[in-house]
Amino acid sequence: MADKKIKFSAVALSVIFVILVYALLGKHDGYLRVNFFDIGQGDAAFITTPQGWQILIDGGPDASVLAKLGEEMQPWDRSIDMVIATHPEADHIAGLIDVLKNYEVSYIVESGLRKETSLSNIWREAVETEGAEVILADSPKRIVLEDKTYIDLLWPLEGHDGEVSANPNNSAIVAKLYYGDRSFLFTADIERWAEQNILANNINIDADILKTPHHGSKTSSSELFLRAVSPEAAIISVGRKNKYGHPHEAIVERFNKMKIPVLRTDKGGDVILESDGKNIFVP
Ligand SMILES: [Zn+2]
Repeated sequence: MADKKIKFSAVALSVIFVILVYALLGKHDGYLRVNFFDIGQGDAAFITTPQGWQILIDGGPDASVLAKLGEEMQPWDRSIDMVIATHPEADHIAGLIDVLKNYEVSYIVESGLRKETSLSNIWREAVETEGAEVILADSPKRIVLEDKTYIDLLWPLEGHDGEVSANPNNSAIVAKLYYGDRSFLFTADIERWAEQNILANNINIDADILKTPHHGSKTSSSELFLRAVSPEAAIISVGRKNKYGHPHEAIVERFNKMKIPVLRTDKGGDVILESDGKNIFVP
């Protein structure tokens, strides 16, 4: 869906227009839909809001995200409203480079942090070529999408634009998506250090659904962090038989002990959840 603006000046008119478009297409049902794509070892989550915003958080390790987008989007729809690039690691941004080549993207959310890799440089060039409006995650901020739908950028707390880091995991973007009474927390690849600092800063990470940090690595998902999120379910986005041994068995065990159901992309494929703003369900 193209031509979305974050702040509508004529809200009523825009809403009516969007409802008409989706009534005509017959696809949209007024639910929030989040699809955690099974794209192998990496992260890629595609969000469709009740009024049709399309948002992609990370793009996985390769072009396989394009086939996934093809299944979620109408064939004539060649635009994505917003791409969030959490941090410049290959398993998150490599697929996004293909997304920018193939779709018109209106907004790119990123920290601007770089890594000394050719892929990180290619990503920088792709962002410049795209000409999208860049929103820097350099302080906590709220992106209002619709009346009851918004995204809070919770982390990092300060700017990293132009900085180079060998390990950008702890500066990765943590974002919380709200629809009505429900919320989804996306934690990218943050590790224990970032988790502790998020807790120390009293950032509200309480959420119904948790995208588990760093593919279930044992360096993340500390017990205090999980208690603060207190999710009804956790998603682990992870490749089958990956070389890192993700998710670590101690983390799976921790979720079991805390009675948090876990949904894994390596076991069940795409994890799709929908919400009417009051409940979250598997469609
Ligand atoms: Zn990762």
